[in-house]
Amino acid sequence: MSRPAPVIAIDGPAGAGKSTAARRLALRLGYKLVDTGALYRGLALAATEAGLDLTDAAAVGALARTLDFDFARGEDGRSRLVLGGVDRDDEIRTEKVAAWASVVSRHPEVREALLGLQRRFGEKGGVVLEGRDIGTVVFPDAEVKIFLTASPEERAKRRVQDLAARGIEADPAVIATEIRERDAADANRAIAPLKPAPDAHLFDTTDHDLDEVVEELVAIVESATKRG
Ligand code: C5P
Repeated sequence: MSRPAPVIAIDGPAGAGKSTAARRLALRLGYKLVDTGALYRGLALAATEAGLDLTDAAAVGALARTLDFDFARGEDGRSRLVLGGVDRDDEIRTEKVAAWASVVSRHPEVREALLGLQRRFGEKGGVVLEGRDIGTVVFPDAEVKIFLTASPEERAKRRVQDLAARGIEADPAVIATEIRERDAADANRAIAPLKPAPDAHLFDTTDHDLDEVVEELVAIVESATKRG
């Protein structure tokens, strides 16, 4: 496939540092950023508000096909989810909505409904997409694939800090349990499970600070795009 500019796929479990690193990388490269988890979170929120049973695959899948998803850039440079023309980003960033997202994201009807949308966001290239299955399902032909991990303890710690930065106080032990449960659900689902693409660059960020992670990502992108 020929695209005017590369697609960079960043996948990995919750708290591995994907969001911040992907944002910084996109900024460095002058690329767009697509936070695909926000789509699943937004759908879960909308389904709950509509009174749907989140385990009802057909109903949630049908809702996914009717929603109008968009992204805006916040003052802090973060990407913000806009649903039906309304900024819902603050509401989707809670652990409760994350857990709901993990339920709706296992339905094939939902993944199918959001697949075309994610591909449209990325089709022109010059984009960093972060999620769970970008390198395996959404853009298996991405020019650069990166899979970020970190130890469960480190990921829980980062999530707590992340929530604190948003003014939400959280118990590290509770967050660690929630992360473990969400990872298990994401990794064991039948469709588009969380796993690295065979040709992904694996990077364990446990002992690296954000600046080091971003530098490593830039180096990976430079060497991968030079080769191609
Ligand atoms: O990345 P984030 O924590 O916002 O994702 C929330 C949930 O959405 C994940 O736990 C996962 O269940 C789902 N998700 C997914 N595929 C993606 C992105 C997120 O299944 N590409």
